[in-house]
Amino acid sequence: MTDNVCTQCGYEHTVIHRKYNGQRLCSSCFKKSIEAKVLKTIKKQKLVTKGDKVLVGLSGGKDSVALLKILNILKEKRIIELEAVTIDEGIAGYREEGVRIAVDVANELNVKHHIVSLNDRYNFTIDKIMKLEEKEEHPQNACTYCGVFRRQIFNQTAREVGATKLATGHNLDDETQSILMNYLEGNVNNMVRIGYKTEARDKRFTPKIKPLREIPEKEIGLYVLESGFEVHFDGCPYAHESFRMEIGDFLRKTTLQHPTIMYSTLNGFEKIKPSIKRDYMKNNTEKPNKTCIKCGEPSSQDICKSCSFIEKIHERLDMEE
Ligand code: SF4
Ligand code: ZN
Repeated sequence: MTDNVCTQCGYEHTVIHRKYNGQRLCSSCFKKSIEAKVLKTIKKQKLVTKGDKVLVGLSGGKDSVALLKILNILKEKRIIELEAVTIDEGIAGYREEGVRIAVDVANELNVKHHIVSLNDRYNFTIDKIMKLEEKEEHPQNACTYCGVFRRQIFNQTAREVGATKLATGHNLDDETQSILMNYLEGNVNNMVRIGYKTEARDKRFTPKIKPLREIPEKEIGLYVLESGFEVHFDGCPYAHESFRMEIGDFLRKTTLQHPTIMYSTLNGFEKIKPSIKRDYMKNNTEKPNKTCIKCGEPSSQDICKSCSFIEKIHERLDMEE
């Protein structure tokens, strides 16, 4: 058999050679294999049940575009209802492109799409916050704020639209990075929450699911391109050289010589997770059993992290005027 023959159908033009299992696939067999693998994960891990309303966090990046396209198969079979939400954090020169792609993809797939901007909701943007931070002696990085606000907006939107599941595009690379990072940092508390379904610490949070968790990042990019969608490659200007990036580089390099390493990391972790949970969760008292007096979201304090950030940012913006 030549190097360029699909191991599935025999067609003489392949788009991928999967070193981890030896397959060479043509475009059509490759796309089918990705869809079948994700749908199998959804079924095996019981990520959705018939009648679920799934809200996809659609950034316009390759992962969320692939996720929407595959979940749309279940929408077309009338197994689930599907909507998407894009958060516009107000990052000039970066977010506009993602929002444009998100609008196009949702339109093409006929999926109801919500765009929530930080500026409309909170009256400031990440760019504005970073202007304030520039003046500080020890500036916080943008992701500290961005992550907290995005989480709040996702949870609120899920509740507003009546979603029963919130789906995110985390892929195999993201997940193995999280496992390794938290292990190396000794952060057992975060480690036990990594999974196909994010363990909600409070019933008022919509359960989060990660259907792409077994798909390598590279294959998701290829799937989106082969499906005829645009891929948004630009990175966020505020993404910094983080520990996650170091771990990501290490894993990518290791994968070149050991093609199955990400799968074995993920599978090994899934095996030991129940024991860690059993022994560790007994002592975990960090549950958000209160309600934020400002926004009504579940919180471990009287005022949630997002609302306390909002208050401080408004105070600082007022002083600037
Ligand atoms: Fe937000 Fe940080 Fe992601 Fe940029 S890299 S979008 S600032 S979380
Ligand atoms: Zn709040």
